[in-house]
Amino acid sequence: MSGCLFCQIAQGQRPAHNIFEGEGTVAFLDILPCTPGHTLVIPRHHYATLSEMPAEEVGKLFQAAAMVAERVQAAMGAAGFNMGINNGKEAGQEVFHAHIHIIPRYQGDGGGSMKSVARMSGKEDLEQLATKIRQAFTSS
Ligand code: 5GP
Ligand code: ZN
Repeated sequence: MSGCLFCQIAQGQRPAHNIFEGEGTVAFLDILPCTPGHTLVIPRHHYATLSEMPAEEVGKLFQAAAMVAERVQAAMGAAGFNMGINNGKEAGQEVFHAHIHIIPRYQGDGGGSMKSVARMSGKEDLEQLATKIRQAFTSS
């Protein structure tokens, strides 16, 4: 899609520090890294969000991301990594070409866990929530 930054990177029309190029996926360093080695893995094809991607493409993207994450961790000598997706504006998505973040983690880097992205106050009735969510599997 013309005008999409990540389509331009996938097509080699915008400079990026690529670290892996697969048939359907590309991985490159994030321009504003959270930690050294912060990498983005994207599908070559334009999908604005993960929700738009066919299940098969999601599978390929995650397979590539898992492989890339192991290599990044090893190369960086990192102690672990966070892998995540900001899916939708309210979740913090800024670039609307689906992508997976791989953030290598280092001892004492001062970062938090995936649970630090949001916090709810008060308790919810988990069984009530589970019933509501289960219905989404039968209605689609
Ligand atoms: P989002 O919030 O959409 O999940 O994250 C988008 C990410 O893309 C951000 O971490 C941002 O630093 C990165 N980014 C934005 N523009 C560019 C760019 O032109 N090149 C690269 N390599 N990364 C970018
Ligand atoms: Zn795109």
